[in-house]
Amino acid sequence: MQSSQIYLSRSAFSHNIALFRKLIGPKSKFTAIVKSNAYGHGLLATASIALDAGADYLGVNSIEEAVSIRRVFSKATILIMGSIPNLAERKAELADENFWVLVSRVEELEILAKLSPTPKIHLKVDTGMSRLGIPYQNAEVIAKEIAEKKLPLSGIATHFASTEDFTEHSHSMLQLGRFQETIDTFAKHGFIDLICHCASSASAMLFSEARMDLVRVGISLYGLWPSLETKLSLSLMKKDVGMLKPALTWKTQIQHIQNLNPGTFVGYGSTFKTTHDTRLAVVPVGYYEGLDRKLSNNGYMLVHGERAKILGRICMNMTMLDITHIPDAKIGDDVVILGKSGNEVISADDHATWTGTINYEVVTKILGSFPRIIED
Ligand SMILES: *Cc1c(COP(=O)(O)O)cnc(C)c1O
Repeated sequence: MQSSQIYLSRSAFSHNIALFRKLIGPKSKFTAIVKSNAYGHGLLATASIALDAGADYLGVNSIEEAVSIRRVFSKATILIMGSIPNLAERKAELADENFWVLVSRVEELEILAKLSPTPKIHLKVDTGMSRLGIPYQNAEVIAKEIAEKKLPLSGIATHFASTEDFTEHSHSMLQLGRFQETIDTFAKHGFIDLICHCASSASAMLFSEARMDLVRVGISLYGLWPSLETKLSLSLMKKDVGMLKPALTWKTQIQHIQNLNPGTFVGYGSTFKTTHDTRLAVVPVGYYEGLDRKLSNNGYMLVHGERAKILGRICMNMTMLDITHIPDAKIGDDVVILGKSGNEVISADDHATWTGTINYEVVTKILGSFPRIIED
């Protein structure tokens, strides 16, 4: 038995995909974003569940992720969203007609266009994120160049910078306007049936105009909200998209128990000192396994449906818990790190609040090498 068990709920994934289906309607396709080991959920397990649950396409960051999926799913359409270092040297791997490759420069387009079979090429447009993409101001010149060189282009995309951060969406609206103008410019140069896409979880939920031909849904596929602001924005717009269901549960077991006298220090740096008789449990999970070290003396795990406080510093592979108030707890009992126990829940959002980060980072950091156990 592994020191941690990571469970994925098939029904939660199906529920979250169904919720987006209802929202986006039949014209827009659902792209399940499974980059970064499927936000820590496990790349191949998640790809398999998402395809079974009716995802139209998969989206990844790197060519390595695309190739890993291709080895198992020979027909899946895979959108590669990140930049590809040394693109010219990756021709053999990229020659796949069901890869949709996002490019930011005409040189990349020229290289991909020569491959056989040719992957589908999508041009990324920078409309206000200042990351990848052609600057929207250069759309006219670049559309003309691509048309004159007779290069194949299948799609066009952009990415919103700050939809998740505000309840006031003027920057997103500015980006959307710039993207629509860019689409028009390309149409003027003969690119009339490009696959247009810009929405991630938050923008797909909030802006019906942003859903276009496909939505690229990451965080909410896993049943997590992009941010509190996204929830608040929906409520301000008097929209209700329904509940998301978190897909992941992270469990471990009590490995050791000690009874400590008052005045006993706990852990590295002796940062915690008991003030009363304390029953302490050790669990075999630390920052290597993906727990944020900022959870030291700050946060809880669940034992027998009760919260057990984290005592002292998170170690590399171990964490200590206060189980004084859980007298029945014994060695081998389950400890829930993320998920439900009895009536209690600890969510990725709780961890994010305790450690000053976002739920995206909490789940993405869970160690990739644990097997992912698929449940119904
Ligand atoms: C990661 C990513 C997404 C998914 O974003 P979520 O907020 O997780 O839904 C969409 N598009 C691009 C380009 C991305 O990099």
